[in-house]
Order: sequence, then structure tokens, then C-alpha cells
Amino acid sequence: MSAAACLFCRIVRGEIPATLVYESPDVIAFRDIHPQAPYHVVIVPRAHVASLAEVTDPLVPGRLALVAAELARRDGYAERGYRTVINTGPDGGQTVFHLHLHLLAGRLMTWPPG
Ligand code: AMP
Ligand code: ZN
Repeated sequence: MSAAACLFCRIVRGEIPATLVYESPDVIAFRDIHPQAPYHVVIVPRAHVASLAEVTDPLVPGRLALVAAELARRDGYAERGYRTVINTGPDGGQTVFHLHLHLLAGRLMTWPPG
């Protein structure tokens, strides 16, 4: 998948609308179109990386995790807690092949995940 055709690259470039909740020079976050919790955002590096398996810069997943913690604090979920998820590959449930971290909150999460 080229960056030109990649769905999340297109959202990063503003070609497809999304409800942005966070923007920085390297990362954006927006509401998931099919929310799995009352609060569900996806946190995405602006630079295209297909999945966690393709990451070479260790700062990239670290940035996504810190933005998740920042958004959870900002939006009032730090105390009750939240779930962060990176799906990788077909068995991991990944459907969009641009690295992203899900931040889910606002309900009790169960374990193990489905
Ligand atoms: P994953 O299955 O981990 O690859 O997650 C991809 C996520 O992107 C899913 O939760 C989808 O609901 C979400 N998604 C797909 N298209 C859009 C879109 N246009 N805007 C916002 N979220 C989307
Ligand atoms: Zn992309």
C-alpha cells in the first residue's frame, strides 16, 4: 500500500474528513468511525509506517503511547483508566495498514480481549 492511497495518510493530509482531537508536528489523533467504547480515538504518526512490525525508530511507538496518556488525562479518563491497543497483522486484527494506537475509555474493559 502506497502512502498516496493509504487511508490514514489521506486523513493526515486532510483529504478525508475526520474528527481530529489532537494535532502535533509528528502525530494526529481522531475519533474512530466505529467506536468500540464511549471514548475511542486512534493515534497516528504523520509519517507512514505500515505496522508495528515495520517500525525502526523506537521513539515512534513511545510517542503514540505518551499522546494516549496525555489525551486520557486531558479528556478525564486518567483516574478510571483506559485501554491502549496496537493491532498488528491479520491475526492481530489490523485492518488499516498505517501504524496506529487505539485509546478506548469510558467503560469497563474485559480480559482477555476477543
Ligand atoms: P485496526 O483494525 O486496528 O487496523 O483499526 C483500524 C480502525 O480504523 C478501526 O477501528 C476503524 O473503525 C477505524 N477507521 C476506519 N476508517 C476510518 C475513518 N475514515 N475514520 C476514522 N476511523 C476509521
Ligand atoms: Zn499511511
